[in-house]
Amino acid sequence: MKSWSDVYLPPIDGKYFFPQLALCNSVTSQNQLLPIKEQYRIYVCGITPYDATHLGHAATYLVFDLVNRYLRAMGKIVHYVQNVTDIDDPLLERANRDGIDWEDLAQSQVDLFRGDMSDLHVIPPESYIGAVEAIPLVLAAIEDLSAREAIYKVDEDLYFSVHADPEFGSRSQLARDEMIEIFSSRGGDPGREGKRDPLDALVWLRQRPHEPGWPSPFGQGRPGWHIECCAIALTYLPTPVADSADPFVIDIQGGGSDLLFPHHEMGASQAALITGKEFARLYMHTGMIGLNGEKMSKSLGNLVFLSELVKSGVDPMAIRIALLSDHYAKDRMWNDSLLTQGIEFLDRLRLLLSRPEVAPTSEVIQNLIFALSNNLDTVGAFEILRSWCVETENGEIGGHAGELSRAIDLLLGIAI
Ligand code: ZN
Repeated sequence: MKSWSDVYLPPIDGKYFFPQLALCNSVTSQNQLLPIKEQYRIYVCGITPYDATHLGHAATYLVFDLVNRYLRAMGKIVHYVQNVTDIDDPLLERANRDGIDWEDLAQSQVDLFRGDMSDLHVIPPESYIGAVEAIPLVLAAIEDLSAREAIYKVDEDLYFSVHADPEFGSRSQLARDEMIEIFSSRGGDPGREGKRDPLDALVWLRQRPHEPGWPSPFGQGRPGWHIECCAIALTYLPTPVADSADPFVIDIQGGGSDLLFPHHEMGASQAALITGKEFARLYMHTGMIGLNGEKMSKSLGNLVFLSELVKSGVDPMAIRIALLSDHYAKDRMWNDSLLTQGIEFLDRLRLLLSRPEVAPTSEVIQNLIFALSNNLDTVGAFEILRSWCVETENGEIGGHAGELSRAIDLLLGIAI
């Protein structure tokens, strides 16, 4: 599937020191240093295209964009892959509810998402892969798991047996009753008759009346969600020869915190069985975005859409600042004052960076790098920039506005 337009990354002077990037691993809830390598492989779960792009989506992709930017600023190669679940129950339900063709709905929402990501200056994935185009990969993954006796049938549907992976549950670290409850609330079917374990996950759904289906050796049907990401990641993020001794398949599996279980646990289990390796070195999750004190959700109907804010005249760079103004791992609230602060800070930066004389900048840039290296401390990064603003407003001189402007663009993705 077509990705979106490339983003220009300004150069940075080689005099700056980039510490190893520390990121919080959801498995341990501890910061973990990414080893220094030449290439990194990152997989971030994409949208199901029916409600694109609400601010929760936007916040998640901005966070992984910061990881991508930091590693690229270090001079590394980043292989970044994202999927789009362009066939799944929620998409079909929405198309049905609204009386529109599911393919038209998916297409329109993917187009909107691409435009939103471009507006936010998110570096596009190297591979942007749809579930429908990934069906041959999913079928190959099911065949592989089947040969390992990890697949069984319930009626005409195929399930992945979680017992096949002795490490199942080790990434999300939840008690079994919690797993069952969350599984049920996030699209799972723990109560279905005929399953060996309530947590076993659907990998191939036999075609239902009035629903689309694709041919397969297991009958006409469509793929399950977890196996989709597993198959895409294994295909589009192959291990380079230089990293063949690496005990992990990829470096980072990322997404919103609601994906850790069951989605990332299932995908990691399936990938571990297929490859004989732990799937990700680091599982990294972003907090949820609420609105005015309430959870932002489809069911409450209080989603705020990026495209609507932009259409109303808000600069996407101000939205970028507002969404990154608190720590990414926390659940955060969106409100008008947050956006106003983002707009004001952007204006202030632009005004001061257009001055011929500004406060010293080299230390500011180095400190920005330090802040980001510490689990993407954007709160600290903005604090550093605010101090520089005050110094410049107080008449301090000796800095290089162009260099700071380029560093803000490269590291934080804020085009001044
Ligand atoms: Zn996924």
